[in-house]
Amino acid sequence: MPDLSVPELLDLDRAHVWHPYGPMPGRTDPLVVASASGVRLRLADGSGELVDGMSSWWSAIHGYNHPVLNEAAHEQLGRMSHVMFGGLTHEPAVRLAKLLVDLSPEGLEHVFLADSGSVSVEVAVKMCLQYWRSLGRPAKRRLLTWRGGYHGDTWQPMSVCDPDGGMHELWSGVLPRQVFADAPPARYEEAYADHLRTLVERHADELAAVIVEPVVQGAGGMRFHSPAYLRVLREACDAHDVLLVFDEIATGFGRTGALFAAEHAAVTPDVMCVGKALTGGYLTMAATLCTPRVADGISQGEVPVLAHGPTFMANPLAAAVACASVGLLVGQDWRAEVKRIEAGLREGLAPAAELPGVRDVRVLGAIGVVQLDRPVDMAAATRAAVREGVWLRPFRDLVYTMPPYVTGDADVARIGRAVCAAAREG
Ligand code: PLP
Repeated sequence: MPDLSVPELLDLDRAHVWHPYGPMPGRTDPLVVASASGVRLRLADGSGELVDGMSSWWSAIHGYNHPVLNEAAHEQLGRMSHVMFGGLTHEPAVRLAKLLVDLSPEGLEHVFLADSGSVSVEVAVKMCLQYWRSLGRPAKRRLLTWRGGYHGDTWQPMSVCDPDGGMHELWSGVLPRQVFADAPPARYEEAYADHLRTLVERHADELAAVIVEPVVQGAGGMRFHSPAYLRVLREACDAHDVLLVFDEIATGFGRTGALFAAEHAAVTPDVMCVGKALTGGYLTMAATLCTPRVADGISQGEVPVLAHGPTFMANPLAAAVACASVGLLVGQDWRAEVKRIEAGLREGLAPAAELPGVRDVRVLGAIGVVQLDRPVDMAAATRAAVREGVWLRPFRDLVYTMPPYVTGDADVARIGRAVCAAAREG
């Protein structure tokens, strides 16, 4: 097939290709990316490059086309790109599992290598339900979460996404019926902690697990909350025989300033999901980690195995790149880099607080958020950011950024200007 011109490509894209939460046929023209390197996306229409303020949805923490990740991918490609995981194993998967166990909160020892974040949440839920079933308590099959969350687009994850005006309202009557607490306040409030305790206690007989995004609720609203609530949940779950699941798919690998957000509260969940930045955004892979308590419980059941096994589970190429990406992260002073970005975002986003229609400006680690008091005009906000030379993807009432950790100071400042422009014009 000869190279497509940009107009040809867009015609075909509109006619044939679904985009996330998009109509068919497509009604808008996405920007066409020809290549990406460092923190820059090069556009195919020749109009230049954009600094990526999104890290490709939290994943490309080292930027694009990184020599270390490229080498890991090339080397593994020369050995084997994929092999089934039933009855076979391989070094990249084993090395990755050991790395994750060593780095994750103390007590998480077993790893299921899933192929996307949503699937890792499905696996987490399955582990919890199967655990209680194995222990002869099948009535414990509901989940408790707090409003405002996002856990993915497949069935169980959708059932614990924000039920109020979230992305999955369409399915509200059909999804499994879960228990919802109010969204967590930013600061610690004893009354809210009591609300959580009460709900866990009241529903304990039917709850398999509490599942939350620790410290930052991402795609459901970019809200930050006190880590102390994680300790409240840990205690309530322990007191009432409920498992605790942390979805660290967005927050994992340094994004909030801790390697995992659970560290802000020094809490170990029973099950933890990671994804996104796991492979530095190179390939699709996620992981579900659990404690021996969960694994041992499952193995005592009538069906003593975890009944899950996707075709591309533990893909060697993705696992090799994940090992390289995680190694690259922890082999350097990543905390200093995230702190540097945090300081740059605080400075760069501060002027947004003075803009009319801005409700809140907040920064944590390498995450910067401007919340408006109105729905953002996505097209106008995106245009304003692109004019500043930055790629952003505003949504709902939010203009936000979570740049790669390798973003230099001048580019962080540029992102700050772009967020302000998008908040002003969007
Ligand atoms: N959980 C959280 C906290 C997420 O932010 C996301 C994706 O944005 C998911 C789960 C789903 O991950 P994936 O898109 O890889 O399926």
